[in-house]
Amino acid sequence: MSTKRDYYEILGIGKSASTGEIKKAYRKVAIKHHPDKNPGDEGAAERFREATEAYEVLKDEQKRQQYDQFGHAPEGGGFGGGAGYGGAGFNVDLNDALDSFLRNFGMGGGGGGGFGDMFGGGQGAQRRGRDLQITLNISLADAAKGVTKKLKVNKQVPCDSCDGSGAAEGSKPVTCGQCNGMGRVRQVRQSLLGQMMTEVACPQCHGQGQTISNPCGNCRGTGTVRGSEMIEVKVPAGVSSGNYMELQGKGDHGDLGSSAGHLRVVFEVEESDLFERRGDDLVIDVPVSPVDLMLGTKVEVPTLNGKVALKIPAGTHSHKVFRMRGKGVTHVNRPGTGDQLVRVLAWTPEKLDKATKAKLEDVRDDLKGLVPAPGRHLYD
Ligand SMILES: [Zn+2]
Ligand SMILES: [Zn+2]
Repeated sequence: MSTKRDYYEILGIGKSASTGEIKKAYRKVAIKHHPDKNPGDEGAAERFREATEAYEVLKDEQKRQQYDQFGHAPEGGGFGGGAGYGGAGFNVDLNDALDSFLRNFGMGGGGGGGFGDMFGGGQGAQRRGRDLQITLNISLADAAKGVTKKLKVNKQVPCDSCDGSGAAEGSKPVTCGQCNGMGRVRQVRQSLLGQMMTEVACPQCHGQGQTISNPCGNCRGTGTVRGSEMIEVKVPAGVSSGNYMELQGKGDHGDLGSSAGHLRVVFEVEESDLFERRGDDLVIDVPVSPVDLMLGTKVEVPTLNGKVALKIPAGTHSHKVFRMRGKGVTHVNRPGTGDQLVRVLAWTPEKLDKATKAKLEDVRDDLKGLVPAPGRHLYD
């Protein structure tokens, strides 16, 4: 389905690689293909980029687990133009990759400062809005069939007073003198590769390319304020607790019109009183009297779609499991639906009136010869 290469293959490691091994492998691949070492080589840049993407996913335990289970997120998924369901809904471009590499290996070099600002280490504008995470509780029925939920998310939103520009009314942002409006400056740094020219966000304007002489009072020049947004989440059928969707651009709005962060919606599926979920199958216990098992009967069994009649044939043993095909949870990443398993249990009434006891005494002896001797696995 996806055209992306396997993350483990990209890093040349096995599926069971430890975090340390992943880091080591990434470092090797990233250094080999780093654009500063291979100027103008687009193939190398792409290998650097994809290795960084692979590393960003595999180093994160939760993302890695999702990736192992679901593989790459479907491309161009449904919601909001870029919802990557389940799998590591994760894409990095080359700039992200360069930043990420610096973050992982470049800090502490002899560069001329400015990194703290760049990585959100302090005052002033951020490059991109923060990523947010919320938990969405859903019922088992909703998880099984999929559901659309509306959520109010508290977050940074664009400032109304200045339209997100950060500049007070009537004052215009001016082009940054340090980067001439480019938003990025080159720096010489000591790194693993030796002395390295690197492009970093301009420390003066924090990558915006503009500075503000007269900041907006409402947002103190940041262009964003605290607010909330109603967000519609289309929960795919078949999710389990811990599955998540990443909604691109639905996190905090970035300062001064920079792009918004992502919103991760983590699903928490509530326990059901009726059903035990086993993967995509649902298990329910249906107690009947021993007489019903002997004579056969018909029972009404609850399912996610209302009650369904089930015929229990005469001579059914206790604990027999009947399978109702397609009455379970929709598979999340492949076609089809799980089943509902109905476990029929002989339920022995603890209190019987005299008349009933007398009738049962009559049949007790009749049944004796029909029950086998003790042994192994008698129900199999
Ligand atoms: Zn403002
Ligand atoms: Zn600048």
